[in-house]
Amino acid sequence: MDDIVQLENVAEAQARMLPPIAILAELTHRCPLQCPYCSNPLELERANAELPTADWIRAMNEAVDIGVLQIHFSGGEPTARKDLEELVRHAAGIGLYTNLITSGVLLDEDKLQRLFDAGLDHVQLSIQDADAANADRIGNIKDGHRRKLSVARAIRKVGLPLTMNAVVHRQNLHNLAGLIDLAVELEAARLEVAHVQYYGWALKNRASLMPTLEQLQDATATVEAARERLKGVLTIDYVVPDYYARRPKKCMDGWGRRFFNISPAGKVLPCHAAESITGLQFESIRDYSLAWIWENSPALNLYRGTDWMPPLCKTCDQREIDLGGCRCQAFALTGNAAETDPACQKSPVHDIIFDIAVTDSATGAPDYIYRRLGGA
Ligand code: SF4
Ligand code: SF4
Repeated sequence: MDDIVQLENVAEAQARMLPPIAILAELTHRCPLQCPYCSNPLELERANAELPTADWIRAMNEAVDIGVLQIHFSGGEPTARKDLEELVRHAAGIGLYTNLITSGVLLDEDKLQRLFDAGLDHVQLSIQDADAANADRIGNIKDGHRRKLSVARAIRKVGLPLTMNAVVHRQNLHNLAGLIDLAVELEAARLEVAHVQYYGWALKNRASLMPTLEQLQDATATVEAARERLKGVLTIDYVVPDYYARRPKKCMDGWGRRFFNISPAGKVLPCHAAESITGLQFESIRDYSLAWIWENSPALNLYRGTDWMPPLCKTCDQREIDLGGCRCQAFALTGNAAETDPACQKSPVHDIIFDIAVTDSATGAPDYIYRRLGGA
């Protein structure tokens, strides 16, 4: 009987399935920086486990066949891969929109020109702070900020559109206005101001990074004023920290709904943090076609749609709007990925995470635990 119910659930999930529109291709976990909020898993993949070029090319071809329109080359630091230009050329050749998400420190104008010539459409460059010394302390890198500024100028010089990514937290929020000014000075068309989301490395560093409620409110006011002042000059996206939120985010637009990640070793994940949910097995493109994984992966089907929801969400009129929030956060904070996201004010543990945020942000910030192989 259980088998029949399970088969019916899979059939329902498949009937509801939409084609994916974008891949986050995590080419490598190698990176010259060591940000304490890095979204990579605690167990980083070694270089010798990375997919070879031919597998990435096959994956891109199969992705186009199932409807994917965009590829975001990410990492770690994707420019650490010697075949990046070849991968970009192939992606552009099969009609994918190509975006490079980079720390920038391994790039120069010559490499950017070659990526542009290969068909690269867009670059997202991370900046750790507007203050050079603090930026280099956050990334644990010497002279990183100066190199990033020079790369930002080279990105615009070769004619690529630029988005500046700024992850904000208690130790750089005092420079938020400076980060916004810097985005304008560097001719970024878009700035993403994203408060740290606390999974993996960021969860380990939560007491160092959590802003106070007052800092969050000041930051929100600064962003709102800048949006008004810079209309037509700079678009600002803003992501608030879940611990202070009342409603959960529609994480990844729904688990296994429109997006997927491919990890450096080839595992297909519904989001970059999904491996933090212990007990789930994710299939690899080394063993299965992408089409098979997208339709049949038990882990991708597990939290698709609304059937999996706990009673609190299943009976809630917001269930189709937020799809129950983030599974990784539910797991990190309750030990059960099938619980209501504690960011939701209806969750029985919502007040507890608010209290954690208040407590963490009120203590003296401990030293960062830097992201590195074996550092977990
Ligand atoms: S967040 Fe920092 S450490 Fe992680 S991949 Fe990006 S630049 Fe590297
Ligand atoms: S109870 Fe569930 S569906 Fe309702 S708002 Fe909260 S997370 Fe969303």
